Amino acid sequence: MIWIGTSWKMTKTLAEARAFVDGLVARRNAVDGVRAFVLPPHTAIAAVRERLPADVGVIVGAQNAHWAAGGAYTGEVSMRMVADAGATMVEIGHSERRDHFGETDDDVARKVSAAVAAGLTPLLCVGEPEEVRAVGGELEWVAGQVRLGLSRLAPRDRHRVVVAYEPVWAIGDAGREPRPGEIAPVMALLSAGCVPGERIEVAAVLYGGSVNLRNAESLLDVPGTDGLFVGRAAWRVEDFVELIRIGSGAGQSEGKGRRDVGAAW
Ligand code: PEP
Repeated sequence: MIWIGTSWKMTKTLAEARAFVDGLVARRNAVDGVRAFVLPPHTAIAAVRERLPADVGVIVGAQNAHWAAGGAYTGEVSMRMVADAGATMVEIGHSERRDHFGETDDDVARKVSAAVAAGLTPLLCVGEPEEVRAVGGELEWVAGQVRLGLSRLAPRDRHRVVVAYEPVWAIGDAGREPRPGEIAPVMALLSAGCVPGERIEVAAVLYGGSVNLRNAESLLDVPGTDGLFVGRAAWRVEDFVELIRIGSGAGQSEGKGRRDVGAAW
């Protein structure tokens, strides 16, 4: 099944979050046939979870959580806390967290393993900055981030991780839309395995960064792509549902979304 998800980043009040959920519930039939997820800000996780009927199959997640089980970490929330609020997934290692908050690959690795320990699906974000792409270093960069991000996880738990390839140069208002050919080698690497000699199983490999209604279909067509992780273009519920429809259509094609039980790396 194809994955279509969105992080709301630091947007949406509780009222706006509830209105989004109501719009989704009103279009609930569209959600069947894809694995949809929304990652509200922490303040809205519980409200979104409580307002979504259990039979509307949308996963609710967090955009971040700390690796420690608890304690003197002012301003942070633990994996257990976001799970308690209703999250079953947690985004880890987004480039904005690496850039603005100094998150290192080892912080990311701690969070990935803490997420699994708390029963959450880690959404591990990786992607190269523009200057690395300019010198053709993207495959090595992304492989390194994945290797380090999974380094504290027992190999038997890797099948619980969803990886999102999000090149930094493609993300956000300053980002530029990728051509399918630009991301294809990385998606091929991630879906086929980037650790030579080792077989790593993950749940799915998604693409994210300047996805929109126009390019979603062609990006989903890139071999090895199990779904899309979307920011701005999915913040209106109508557009999120339209992206879900596109994902559902792509999921009908041969060979798509097969990695429900783990991608072979
Ligand atoms: C993101 O930041 O993860 C993202 C995919 O953003 P956007 O779609 O807005 O580029």
